[in-house]
Amino acid sequence: MNYEAALDASLQRLHDEGRYRTFIDIVRKQGHFPQAIWRRPDGTERDITVWCGNDYLGMGQHPEVLAAMHEALDATGAGSGGTRNISGTTIYHKQLEAELADLHGKEAALVFSSAYIANDATLSTLRLLFPGLIIYSDALNHASMIEGVRRGGGAKRIFRHNDVAHLRELLAADDPAAPKLIAFESIYSMDGDFGPIKDICDLAEEFNALTYIDEVHAVGMYGPRGAGVAERDGQMHRIDIINATLAKAYGVFGGYIAASAKMVDAIRSYAPGFIFTTSLPPAVAAGAAASVRILKTAQHLRDAQQTHARILKMRLKGLGLPIIDHGSHIVPVHVGDPVHCKMLSDMLLENYGIYVQPINFPTVPRGTERLRFTPSPVHDARQIDHLVKAMDALWRHCALNRAEVSA
Ligand SMILES: *Cc1c(COP(=O)(O)O)cnc(C)c1O
Repeated sequence: MNYEAALDASLQRLHDEGRYRTFIDIVRKQGHFPQAIWRRPDGTERDITVWCGNDYLGMGQHPEVLAAMHEALDATGAGSGGTRNISGTTIYHKQLEAELADLHGKEAALVFSSAYIANDATLSTLRLLFPGLIIYSDALNHASMIEGVRRGGGAKRIFRHNDVAHLRELLAADDPAAPKLIAFESIYSMDGDFGPIKDICDLAEEFNALTYIDEVHAVGMYGPRGAGVAERDGQMHRIDIINATLAKAYGVFGGYIAASAKMVDAIRSYAPGFIFTTSLPPAVAAGAAASVRILKTAQHLRDAQQTHARILKMRLKGLGLPIIDHGSHIVPVHVGDPVHCKMLSDMLLENYGIYVQPINFPTVPRGTERLRFTPSPVHDARQIDHLVKAMDALWRHCALNRAEVSA
């Protein structure tokens, strides 16, 4: 085996398909989000505005979150020093889990290294707990859920995205006595559309299935206490396992599930992805707990985010740009070609100081390449105006299609 040649071939394949990824080095400026500094490969710098971050509410610079982290860091040191089982459980982990259980109205919560790990570890472990489990998984579920479903082995059924009629067909075709679980998301992050939570819960009840929801792009931002779309829609008590992250709207790091005490106890006891890894640093747990607590009441941040998203969509639509609008906080602009998408992104960055990463295959299907903007309460009117004018100019410059301008 020529290992070098094999690596070259793999990398070349990505270059050939125009989907080799390059990372942009940025330095975020705490206290000035969404402003940041872009460090070019040649070492020169440029001030930029970040328009594609997942720190949706700017909590990564919230003074109370930072204070909680400083306090825990100074009190306890850098790392946790162990797995949860062997010296790595601190009061900060316990407090964070209590805060999360309360948020979702569940008996318990369990913190993982990330929501990716939480999805992967939980979904793959459920197979051990319920032998013969059939998992019904939405076709557009996140890579971490796909991986968890796949790794667990066993039967799986993929239902067409948000298609409850198809889901019903699949459920009805299986043995009524078989254990079942429906896995889906509350907001699909690339289109910004919502999962049909109530309809899926109805089906789960009818077919005696468990429900598993990924609220990663919704926690902090939807529902009166920021518990997500299931809370907003009055369906949270009907979901058996809620998964989410502490790294997007909560602005810190880590992931979790919330469920019944018994379910959490079983996952805690059986999931290798939870058991055999060092727990979060106490300072991270403390910052996350502060952020969750703050967003239980900070409705003004949720409102400001929704307002900015609405304004940005309205203005881009007014220019006839092809916005994908499902009423969530995410603002995807359809480009439909990987080369154009990359070029637009490069020009926005270099010429306008606007940072938005092109979203290409395999994150989205080929032909649906897009720019995905994430307005937040910390983007102001001037920054929104600058973005809209830049998009207008570039659309004209590149002679891209516009929709009929509607009122
Ligand atoms: C980002 C993301 C995750 C993973 O969350 P991390 O905490 O960053 O690992 C899981 N599910 C969805 C839908 C995501 O977009």
